[in-house]
Formats: sequence, C-alpha cells, structure tokens
Amino acid sequence: MAEVTAPAYRTIPIIPKLIPGAMEGKGPYIANEKIQADLGFPGQLVDDWHDKAIAKMGDLLRKYRSVAVFMDACVHCGACSDKCHYFIGTADPKNMPVARQDLMRSVYRRYFTWAGKLFPKLVGARDLTREVLDEWYNYYHQCSECRRCSVFCPYGIDTAEITMAAREILAEVGMGQKYSNEIIAKVHKIGNNLGLPGPALKDTMEGLEEDVKEDTGIDVRFPIDVKGAEVLLITPSADFFAEPHIDSLIGYAKVFHATGTSWTLSSMSSEAANFGMFIGNYEQLRKVALRIRQAALDLGVKRIVVGECGHAWRVAYSFWNTLSGVGDGSDPDDKFARMLQQQLDHRYRQPTHICEFTWDMIERGALSFNKEANDKYVVSFHDSCNVARGSRMGDLPGGQFEIPRNIIRAVANNFVEMDPGTTRESTFCCGGGGGLLTDDLMELRVKGALPRMEALKQVSDEKGVNFLALICAICKTQFSKVAPYYGFDRKMMGGVHQLVSNAIILGDKQ
Ligand code: SF4
Ligand code: SF4
Repeated sequence: MAEVTAPAYRTIPIIPKLIPGAMEGKGPYIANEKIQADLGFPGQLVDDWHDKAIAKMGDLLRKYRSVAVFMDACVHCGACSDKCHYFIGTADPKNMPVARQDLMRSVYRRYFTWAGKLFPKLVGARDLTREVLDEWYNYYHQCSECRRCSVFCPYGIDTAEITMAAREILAEVGMGQKYSNEIIAKVHKIGNNLGLPGPALKDTMEGLEEDVKEDTGIDVRFPIDVKGAEVLLITPSADFFAEPHIDSLIGYAKVFHATGTSWTLSSMSSEAANFGMFIGNYEQLRKVALRIRQAALDLGVKRIVVGECGHAWRVAYSFWNTLSGVGDGSDPDDKFARMLQQQLDHRYRQPTHICEFTWDMIERGALSFNKEANDKYVVSFHDSCNVARGSRMGDLPGGQFEIPRNIIRAVANNFVEMDPGTTRESTFCCGGGGGLLTDDLMELRVKGALPRMEALKQVSDEKGVNFLALICAICKTQFSKVAPYYGFDRKMMGGVHQLVSNAIILGDKQ
C-alpha cells in the first residue's frame, strides 16, 4: 500500500433534513393593549387590518427602495437557504431566508404587480389572509435580523430589512411584540430597558466603587451625571447588574481610571440598546436616540463612548448621525444637532466604541497589563453579528474584526480562532438577537445557538478553549443561558473588557 497520508477529516456542515411546520405557532407573545398604547400603536388587531396592512406595505415600499428592490430581485437560487442559524437549528423550511422573504414577497406580488393581480397562482402570489398575517407574526419573529444570509446572496438581498418592514406593518395593525415594545416603553419613561430609576442606579454604582476598592485597594470611580466630564458612557443597562456584563463595566471604569479620563454615566439616559431598530420603526428608533443627545447636551460632554453592545453599536455607528446629530452627516437644519456638533470634540471619532477607546490607549502606551492574570484561560472570540455586518471600528476596513482581537492579544496570552466559516463577516448570530431574547422563545433560542455552539465545541475539544470573549450584551445573556444545554459552563462566557479588567495595572490617576 502506497505511503500516502490521508487528509485530516473535515467538519462537514450538514444541511438539516426538513421538518415542515417544526416552528409553526411558536412565535413570541403579542403585546397587550397597554403596551401597544404606550408606543402609540393600536391595542389589538384593528377591524380594517387587511387594508391597513396593504396600505402600510405600499408606504414602506415607497419609503425604503431597498425593500422594493429585494421584493423583485430574488432569483430563488437557494444560496442563502442553509445560512440561517434558525433554519440550521430548527429544520423548519420557513426559516430558510428565501422562504422567510417569500412570506412577504407572495403578498407583494398579489397587490403590487400586474402579473400577481391577473395570474396570482402562476407567479406564486397570495391574498393577505388572517392565516398569512399569523404566519408573518410567527416567522418574522424567528429572524434575528443578523444579515448573515445577505452575505451569501449574489444580489445582497437583506432579509433583516424585510423582517423589519413586516414587524412595522404588524405593529401598525395591532400585532406588536410584547417583549420589544415593553422594553421600548421603559426607555421612554425611565431611560433604560430595565426600568431602573436614577437613585437605584446611583446606589448600584456606589456599591461597585466599594467592591472594586475592596478588590484592588484603589478608588476607581463610577460617576453619574457629572457636568463637564469629557466622556459620556452609553452602555447597555445589563452592564449595571447582570453577570457577566458587570465585569466589563468594571473594565471600562478601570480603563478610564488608568488613562486619567474624566467620564460619566447619565441617569436620564442610561441605555445603549435601541429596540426601535428591532421593530423596524423609525420614530421609536429616533425617540430612543434623542434621549442620548439630550444627555450629551445637558452634561456638556466632549465625547460619546458606547459600551459592549452589538446592535447598539450598529445604531450608533450607522444611524446616530442622521437620527440625532452624533457623527458626520447630521441634519444642518436640526438646531440641537448643530449644537451637539459644536460641543463635541472632533479630534475623536464620534461616537467611539469602547474597544476603539481602549485599543487607542494601548497603542499610545497609556495602559499596561499583567497578561498572566488571564493565563487560566484559552480565549476565543465571537464576532457579534451587528458589529460584524452592520458597523465598523477604527480607520481600516475590517477594524471591527481586528480591534477586539488586538485587545484580547494585548491582555491574554492564549487566543485561538474558531472555524473561519463562523467568524468575521460569516459569523453566526448568538440566537437571541433582534428582539428574540425572551423566555417565550426559549426553544428557538436554544436551537438557533447550534452553529455557534458547534464551532465552540470544536475549539474547546481540540484547543482547550474555556473562555468565549464577547462584545454584546445580548450575546452575553443568550450564551450564558443556552451554554448548559450544550454541555458548557455558563461562566465561560464573558466580555472583552472583563479580560481587560483582569489584566490591567492600575495607577493612582482619578
Ligand atoms: S436570522 Fe439572520 S440569517 Fe436568518 S433570515 Fe434573519 S437575517 Fe437572515
Ligand atoms: S441567495 Fe438571494 S437570490 Fe438566492 S434565493 Fe437567497 S435571497 Fe434569493
């Protein structure tokens, strides 16, 4: 027998055997009348829902040209069909991105194309019936708007935008989602997703100052409502109390302390998350963003830094400029946007991601680390889908991939990558994004986490990975919850700034 070495076995992605109807009727709870009313939506399904839904669809097709193009451009090549984590995990054919799109495309053809009006059956056009509306609610709430499918589509068709349009139509006719709408209302009323009032937030930060003092012997501050501070930190409210999120907040505070940066939180605007994007509603998205602008103006800060949160960074990086005037391209006719532009220090990127801030300080030699403090870990990194495919960091293309990795390598000795088909622009959603991080969707969340858990298992078995570094509050909560279903310890999930916090050498600056 010839002395030939066979190539190593490869991990072959397996396309699941279809289970039609596997996730039928497994959508999230519908918002009640009060929750809907809080956002100005009808309390329940309106009598004229059919006409209202078609009219709203027409509005959206005119307003968002991309959605209109996506309705016509698909050639059903199937390249996207096995790219969605929810299809991979559930095997429900309606969770294939193309099938998800077709739920709306079929209705679009019936009401907005000549062929669909004249020969509906011939072109796969459908009437908008109550059953179709329920199907929309179900399957457009099984998409986390992660945009992975669009990376593989030859036409760049973005299912996330179609999902957002569908959710906007549903809310308009009285079928909003309980979880997302409830959270948005809390931000409008109190300033954060948790409904945590200012005094409770202050108490929590004082408690953190005591904990860090006990741990390090150093007075690291967690300031709130400090007028004239240089930096306003806008971070997901989960950072204030949840595990492992809070360890990253401690990391940010230590970075600010070690670099002598004056910073503050705002009790009025204490939330980076913006679920307005998830429900596809521009007015809600803007209203949440304007609260942050108000805080920046009130406090007179020079910089706005955003904490570890995937979709919040997408909103901040991609939309804050036109929504609120933070960043280039803001509306010159908006008086408050002009005021903010004059106030902010344009030597810095506005807004700045906390990873950009920390990496910039590392490059300037302003931070020192004891990397051995992380030697108990073999670290891998999960690219948050919204950061990977909806934003950037730094000045170079791909900075959103390199900067977090650069930080990890600067603070830890052992870093390994997961399978390249599951990282960077090909990363998988954690399974809880897009307004799906709710217990009523637990089955979907567990099943949707499969592709990431498979890649983690591979590096865990082969390379001993025991810490998954994250830069998203949703990923942290989702992975901590689903990890045990896949045999992982939830404590192996943590933030990039948790690793920074472990290794940073603190001076006496305050
Ligand atoms: S969850 Fe992501 S991959 Fe799946 S259909 Fe939605 S945008 Fe596409
Ligand atoms: S990859 Fe694009 S064109 Fe092909 S089926 Fe999917 S959405 Fe349609």
